[in-house]
Amino acid sequence: MNRIRRGKEVRREKDSDLFKTVDSTFDTSTSLALLYVMRKLGIEVIMGAIASGKEAKVYPAKTREENYLALKVYYTSTASHKKALSRYIAMDSRHKIKATSTKDLIYGWARKEFGNLKRLYEAGVSVPKPYLVHKNLLVMEFLGHDGVRAPLLFEYEDITQELYEKVLEQITLMIGKAKMVHSDLSEYNIMVFDSSPVIIDVGQSIQLSDDPNLEFLNKDLKNINRFFSSRGINVRPVEEILNSVLST
Ligand code: ATP
Ligand code: MN
Repeated sequence: MNRIRRGKEVRREKDSDLFKTVDSTFDTSTSLALLYVMRKLGIEVIMGAIASGKEAKVYPAKTREENYLALKVYYTSTASHKKALSRYIAMDSRHKIKATSTKDLIYGWARKEFGNLKRLYEAGVSVPKPYLVHKNLLVMEFLGHDGVRAPLLFEYEDITQELYEKVLEQITLMIGKAKMVHSDLSEYNIMVFDSSPVIIDVGQSIQLSDDPNLEFLNKDLKNINRFFSSRGINVRPVEEILNSVLST
């Protein structure tokens, strides 16, 4: 039983080993999609994954001109598939992505994150600049230097009052200008790039009008306050932040 299963997995890996795949995230259709994206953006090298999350892996990608981009690959058919899928479906009920198949759902999810990034970027919110979405691949600005990513907020050493105010400024822009609620905001979805916070992972973000009771905005603000106050920062009461953020 075990042997058979192992045998099957080995075969499947070989089938999808289109060009010495980086890892199992790259099945055949993802590999083909990657070839398209690499050609389109002049990407020459994909480096080892920065991180594997619940729904995707992120890789530094180096262009012909030696610039770095961030490539986010949403899982389609890996071991993490089931976990990721239940998350997409849960989120899908909030977004109503038109999907007739699993692939459709995941492609829809990638487009959703791209659209959210674009909307936030255009509103002047500090997010990675979105470049392209193709099937289950999303390419955005790389946050870091020479292929080394910037720290996440929870990894950052210099947590100051000023940094807290900067995070609140970004939330204010998200709400006031982009009219969007992040809805998974925490010290794990904010990077600190050149001393300033950059908001990432906006696939599940929603329009402010889709959060009528401000349940998601409240949760985001509580999370941010919890983190900063655990690092000794004087935080403002959530109600006060809500009032000022909503009056912009
Ligand atoms: P999780 O499930 O852990 O929330 P995720 O699959 O939703 O992750 P992201 O949070 O978007 O994916 O990204 C995963 C990790 O990749 C981040 O924690 C960060 O370390 C890194 N990362 C994401 N975007 C970028 C970027 N634009 N530049 C550099 N690194 C990035
Ligand atoms: Mn994340």
